[in-house]
Amino acid sequence: MRSAGRATMTAMSDAAERRAELERRAAEWRGCQKCALAAGRTQVVVGAGNPDAGLMFVGEAPGFHEDRQGIPFVGQAGKLLESLLGEIGLSRDRVYIANVLKCRPPGNRDPQPDEIDACEEHLFAQVELIQPRVICTLGNFATKLLSGQPYGITRVHGKPQPHRIGSVELVLYPIFHPAAALYTPSMLDTLRADFAQLPELLAAQRGHCSSDIAGMPGEQRLDQVASGWCQLHMHGATI
Ligand code: URA
Repeated sequence: MRSAGRATMTAMSDAAERRAELERRAAEWRGCQKCALAAGRTQVVVGAGNPDAGLMFVGEAPGFHEDRQGIPFVGQAGKLLESLLGEIGLSRDRVYIANVLKCRPPGNRDPQPDEIDACEEHLFAQVELIQPRVICTLGNFATKLLSGQPYGITRVHGKPQPHRIGSVELVLYPIFHPAAALYTPSMLDTLRADFAQLPELLAAQRGHCSSDIAGMPGEQRLDQVASGWCQLHMHGATI
């Protein structure tokens, strides 16, 4: 087998192993008792979407509907997130979506520091196993936790930051939480403008691959860059 083919096979089995490990860890986390939120939850909301995604979203914590269904962002804020994804030619099954907290805080109150401390290892493990190239943090809690900086979302939204999480080199891209934009039209405009930068950011993170997809129709191109496609066949060649 030519070396490019061998590299492709290795990358594919590596991805399969990471997917299997993510599933194994998720099964463990579903029984988590590390903080007091375990007592009030219906279920642990681990995450959803494509575990090979190049683009990952991190929100705050499950709400009522997420707690019931076990899936992040299925309520009103989730509908807005889906619609914003649609505007840039993506769908939720092409990206990975998780939260800072995996269990619903009572009455949807803010996450408490001890809850974040207890839960963060799950999120960091997800990042290590998914290896996204871009993480879009939604709102203050995800932005502060993953950047390790105290700066609030109003100051840093829409500004990509090269960052390393564990062994993963990526770009952190903070944006407002969709829930904050639900009833404030000016914030929705800002969120939409920040979302509009995502395709270029993702393409830039593809490195040399981005030039190979230059001739593709926009929507197909965006699907490919968001779903970590470098091993796939393009224009008859394997890249
Ligand atoms: N808000 C979040 O931050 N996460 C969800 O999963 C739902 C609403």
